[in-house]
Amino acid sequence: MSSPNILILGAPGAGKGTQSRRLVEEFGVEHVTTGDALRANKGMDIGHLDLEYDTPGEYMDAGELVPDPVVNEIVKTALEAADGYVLDGYPRNESQTEYLDSITDLDVVLYLAVDEDELVRRLTGRRVCEDCGATYHVDFDPPAESGVCDECGGDLYQREDDTEETARERIRVYEENTEPVVEYFRDEGVLVEVDGERTPDEVWADVEDAVEARAN
Ligand code: ADP
Ligand code: AMP
Repeated sequence: MSSPNILILGAPGAGKGTQSRRLVEEFGVEHVTTGDALRANKGMDIGHLDLEYDTPGEYMDAGELVPDPVVNEIVKTALEAADGYVLDGYPRNESQTEYLDSITDLDVVLYLAVDEDELVRRLTGRRVCEDCGATYHVDFDPPAESGVCDECGGDLYQREDDTEETARERIRVYEENTEPVVEYFRDEGVLVEVDGERTPDEVWADVEDAVEARAN
């Protein structure tokens, strides 16, 4: 059986990255995340596109979407190289959805549903390992030693866009641009909605079942 092509949708802070790491372990898929790819290229010169800002980082720090041509190219290259993937953070608007449809076929579309106040609590308390990318939360999932990754001993940092102000702007941008994407897949009859407000283990039980049921 070849590895499945999985799309995981949800607002910023819904738990996409947390569940994606488990999908990688369990199903041997590649984690393709536009957020991580863009963070690694925040200073890339995109001035030739003649848009509002000249680097991805300026859009990200404002909580806005990075322009489609930049993000579409990242996704195309990553999906071509992957034998099975979990795509996280893309598509975020209708034009990205059309582009995705033109370059790949999906086996499973998951949606993690979480309310706004919980999203803000999760985003503002999030800490990420600078070496391996493992994600923690200061209250909900703290590391054994404050500021140190349990998995690899790396330093934990807070993302620049995880302040309350930018988190709320990102959620607003999500509601305006990305909720229609969720509705598109719901209308297509392929969306598997999972209650994301439970513990990571409880959410995982439903995520794993959904993928097992559709990935053969
Ligand atoms: P996303 O990738 O959707 O932005 P993350 O997976 O990075 O979200 O999770 C955001 C924050 O919420 C992290 O600090 C993570 O530890 C925490 N978190 C993830 N899933 C849960 C959960 N089910 N319950 C409580 N906190 C969670
Ligand atoms: P994330 O790590 O998914 O929370 O994304 C962090 C930031 O990266 C977003 O607020 C956007 O500025 C940018 N970004 C990530 N994915 C996309 C995408 N598919 N389209 C446009 N911008 C994106």
